[in-house]
Amino acid sequence: MKKNMSLTKVAMPERDPKERSTNFEEVAMGYTEEMALEEAARCLSCKNMPCVSGCPVNVKIPEFIALVQEGKFIEAYEKIKETNSLPAICGRVCPQENQCEGKCVRGIKGQPVGIGRLERFCADYAMTHGYESKQEIVKNGRKVAIIGSGPAGLSCAGDMAKKGYDVTIFEAFHVAGGVLQYGIPQFRLPKELVNAEIKGLEKMGVKIEKNMVIGKIFSLEELKQDGYEAIFIGSGAGLPSFMHIPGENLNGVYSANEFLTRINLMKAYKFPEYDTPIKPYHTVAVVGGGNVAMDAARCAKRLGAEKVYIIYRRSEEEMPARLEEVHHAKEEGIIFKFLNNPAAIVGDDNGWVKGMEIIKQELGEPDASGRRRPVPVEGSNYILDVETVIIAIGQSPNPLIRHTTPGLECQKWGGIIVNEETMESSKENVYAGGDTVTGAATVILAMGAGKKAAAAIDEKLSSK
Ligand code: FAD
Ligand code: SF4
Repeated sequence: MKKNMSLTKVAMPERDPKERSTNFEEVAMGYTEEMALEEAARCLSCKNMPCVSGCPVNVKIPEFIALVQEGKFIEAYEKIKETNSLPAICGRVCPQENQCEGKCVRGIKGQPVGIGRLERFCADYAMTHGYESKQEIVKNGRKVAIIGSGPAGLSCAGDMAKKGYDVTIFEAFHVAGGVLQYGIPQFRLPKELVNAEIKGLEKMGVKIEKNMVIGKIFSLEELKQDGYEAIFIGSGAGLPSFMHIPGENLNGVYSANEFLTRINLMKAYKFPEYDTPIKPYHTVAVVGGGNVAMDAARCAKRLGAEKVYIIYRRSEEEMPARLEEVHHAKEEGIIFKFLNNPAAIVGDDNGWVKGMEIIKQELGEPDASGRRRPVPVEGSNYILDVETVIIAIGQSPNPLIRHTTPGLECQKWGGIIVNEETMESSKENVYAGGDTVTGAATVILAMGAGKKAAAAIDEKLSSK
């Protein structure tokens, strides 16, 4: 096949920024078959496969792209599925620029191959063509419990079910999917896709018990007594961090977690059809510079805010959000205030937010994270008029499970300590992975941890 030596990726169609910032339709619209063939032809089928080493679940990238080149889209999808159980999701939200695409040789001179876009294309093609897995599962009658239905729990559940285990996921919320459902907005990750992936797992026999807060309804010990031979904890990092500055308790201050849950899970953007309102406002300040901050800002814009600011204490260069998200946020009119840090939130006489006191920053020496430390500029304080403040400066694991599980060793900040080879915790046959171990990270790292734990659980249980 003739290679495409273009230095740039085939562009993916996107909705117009002005139109899309008023609704929750998906922004990126995906490749057509012709675009996928053209982009796949950019892959050089490198023998040493540097791209695969950049993927936390080792998707067989050159092999699936070769199948796309031949127009064998379903076979390409099956090749991806061999190691990645959620390709429609990963194709949309993985930070490919730091992973597979970051290692692609085409990126040395020009743009890397659009691996994420091709992965998404294959998954969407399979879904729209009614793909059903023909894989036969032989049940072994052994019970495994999974706590949490985010990407870590789902990938562990999928792999355990394929190996024949009787898998039950216990999920605290009334809807399965974790951050995929309540955090990442519809315009980046349509919930229909998440639900379709979860349905696929249910068809494989995975049971999902919703509204089940483990640590309150059952303890881990009770699950063991109920016959679960191994337990995987994938309970994420859903506890928001705050800045501890004056005014943080005022009305109109949200954690990004609450704000996004109201919008994504409770469908506040469809109020009054759904009964979770968000107070109308005109000016919003989102504090933070990660993906969560970008999502909160772009949601606020879509809910009708006239001005949405991102307040970030370092410069644009240090911002941890994905470049694509920053680019989309800028296109949609989000105003970035770099080297700005809140000193206090100012309230009116009724206890509602009316402004934010900000102190300007400059960059000093690098800190423990390797990024240059922000240093306040004396006397630079000013007041920004805002009616709503959304805090998006990080999350940590919810303490419920560690507080109700004697002997479960955890880091000081709350992360569960595991053996990195097996993901087994200090308690025998209790495994953990994803954000509850690493702190807030990425979908694919959580999935990789779930897979690793599934392999280790199977190895241990099948040797008994
Ligand atoms: P989660 O997805 O948090 O799932 C944990 C689940 O466990 C939840 O459903 C929770 O309800 C449940 N649970 C918690 N406690 C209990 C309990 N006691 N009993 C029962 N169930 C319990 N990553 C990317 O790769 N790309 C992105 O673009 C991206 N954007 C993001 C945007 C936002 C707004 C957020 C918040 C995160 C984003 N991330 C992104 C990070 C990514 O979503 C997480 O790293 C990933 O979801 C972690 O997966 P997990 O399975 O460990 O936890
Ligand atoms: Fe194809 Fe890039 Fe991987 Fe080489 S590194 S096989 S060009 S995707």
